[in-house]
Amino acid sequence: MAPASAGTGERFFPDEMPSPAANAETAGWWEACLSHRLVVQRCTGCATTRHPPGPVCPACSSLSCEWSELPGTGIVYTFSIVRQAFLPALAGTVPYVVAAIEPDGGRGVRFVSNVVDCDPEEVEIGMAVEVVWEDMGPELSVPRFRPRPAPVDGGGGGDDGGDDGGQGGP
Ligand SMILES: [Zn+2]
Repeated sequence: MAPASAGTGERFFPDEMPSPAANAETAGWWEACLSHRLVVQRCTGCATTRHPPGPVCPACSSLSCEWSELPGTGIVYTFSIVRQAFLPALAGTVPYVVAAIEPDGGRGVRFVSNVVDCDPEEVEIGMAVEVVWEDMGPELSVPRFRPRPAPVDGGGGGDDGGDDGGQGGP
């Protein structure tokens, strides 16, 4: 019964959920994740961002790049609802949402992730989301995304409701 608040310790998927495999190109990205920093690789020559990380800028062929930290917010670019467990251990987890997230400040890159902490049927293209870190173990933190309240124009607002329940876990 973890409250849906910022911080560590939230779990959305079982340990058996296959882990993303890091390689020499993506290791830096996963290291940032381990410290709960959402970053994107940016060319220091022309500022083009790219994801997944790679050794060469596709725009200018520069080999020089840096990690640029993102604010952790973004939108759902597109998504799919997984209704069939592809592993027995995930039988209690379906349905869940796999989504392409377009992060704010990412200049067009998209991260494949999950939208969690809500009913999958409520997920929409263009929905505003924010990162929530799932620590899958001492060596792996995975960025998932959950709905965030839309910015309110003008006065009023202040409705933080609607982020409870619906995890569908055991
Ligand atoms: Zn470049």
